[in-house]
Amino acid sequence: MKQINVAMVAHDNKKAEMIEWVKTHQDKFKTFNLFGTGTTGRLIEEAIGQKVHRYLSGPLGGDQQIGAAISQGEINMLIFFWDPLESLPHDPDIKALLRLAAVWNIPLACTVSSADLMIHSTLLQDTSYEIKQPDYSQYTSRKTPAEQS
Ligand code: PGA
Repeated sequence: MKQINVAMVAHDNKKAEMIEWVKTHQDKFKTFNLFGTGTTGRLIEEAIGQKVHRYLSGPLGGDQQIGAAISQGEINMLIFFWDPLESLPHDPDIKALLRLAAVWNIPLACTVSSADLMIHSTLLQDTSYEIKQPDYSQYTSRKTPAEQS
């Protein structure tokens, strides 16, 4: 991968886990551009002293901003420690963010173990490895029912 722009989001009950994980990998992170939702981004910046481009806080629109950045090719990796034990008022944003990561085929880790495996992948150093960008041209040029009649 040529340039890694990683976005990080952690729900409140997962923030301690995120900070611990980030500290463990801070040397590796020096080669990445870091992005995050407001509070997660601030905590990461404070913990490792590396600049994090901060979007709004997740429930205030930050999750959607990251989703939009993924759609525009500006974010190519997502670490999203969402809380499986709590239903949050911004559940639709969470689902939307997970959905867009899948739509655009970006690496996505929702647990510490998957984030560990992702961050240690040898493909990260392989500059010839490109993430396959899905081709949605057929979808975008489809005839809608109104156009078919
Ligand atoms: P926060 O947002 O980092 O601003 O707390 C996280 C979230 O999406 O809940």
